[in-house]
Amino acid sequence: ADRLKGKAAVVVGAGSVGPGWGNGKATAVTFAREGARVACVDINLAAAEETAEIIRGEGGEAIALQANVTRLADIDAVVEASLAAFGRIDVLDNNVGIAEVGGVVEVDEAEWDRVFAVNLKSAYLTMKRVIPVMERQGGGSIVNISSVASIRWTGVPYATYYASKAALNHLTKTTAVQYAAQNIRVNAVLPGLMKTPMVAHSAGLAATYADGDVEEMWRRRASQVPMGRQGEGWDVANAALFLASDESRYVTGLELIVDGGLTLK
Ligand code: NAD
Repeated sequence: ADRLKGKAAVVVGAGSVGPGWGNGKATAVTFAREGARVACVDINLAAAEETAEIIRGEGGEAIALQANVTRLADIDAVVEASLAAFGRIDVLDNNVGIAEVGGVVEVDEAEWDRVFAVNLKSAYLTMKRVIPVMERQGGGSIVNISSVASIRWTGVPYATYYASKAALNHLTKTTAVQYAAQNIRVNAVLPGLMKTPMVAHSAGLAATYADGDVEEMWRRRASQVPMGRQGEGWDVANAALFLASDESRYVTGLELIVDGGLTLK
């Protein structure tokens, strides 16, 4: 329970829009259980508070912060509040992400810009502000949550999601190289089919797969996974934990696939 002992983490997207455990919520709680002090950041303050409450209820240390991480001013406030609370930022975990169904013909311009802002610009802006803090501290670990959709077709037209997550992978790798000598590691986790609120509430997906029947969608999609089941937020959280901890101290620029074998099929 002390794999992140002494570290302070900022988990972005640490709320969860529906029932169950989103990737960011599970990650914030997992980091805290391993000894990290955690800033739970989300556009939905009540959701971030709920995650921080869970951590405090388990005897951990956490603060909840509201931010729209597509805005630099909001990120400045997050960095300031995290440093005020914990004095340092050792780990940045970027979990925000939205998926809208549609190919290039269907997606309108405003939606294209919105998805790229949330999925890609957020990582650029958070890293822009957190890397200088890590440089001053002598190192740190950044984990960007991408998706297997960044490297393969998933069966659903998701033009903005595919492209924004692919760009996030490359931003991760090039940033990893640039800051490697400063001991700042930058890695990506590529989850496959996870049972989280984002997917469970994606009406477009459900309709595409099973005429609006969400449970039937899960059954059909799980049957495509070699392990025969979808993953959970905890599986993403444990991958992020490894990358956040010193156990991965010689690992940077990695795309860590967590998908039950899906991409190999
Ligand atoms: P989720 O919707 O449960 O969590 C995302 C959180 O981000 C929400 O709490 C939301 O309020 C917050 N958020 C959205 N926009 C924001 C903004 N502008 N500023 C601050 N917070 C904002 O989603 P999830 O399923 O847990 O997904 C988390 C990450 O995992 C995403 O990047 C997603 O693309 C990725 N992912 C998910 C799956 C899956 O199957 N669920 C698969 C691959 C990758």
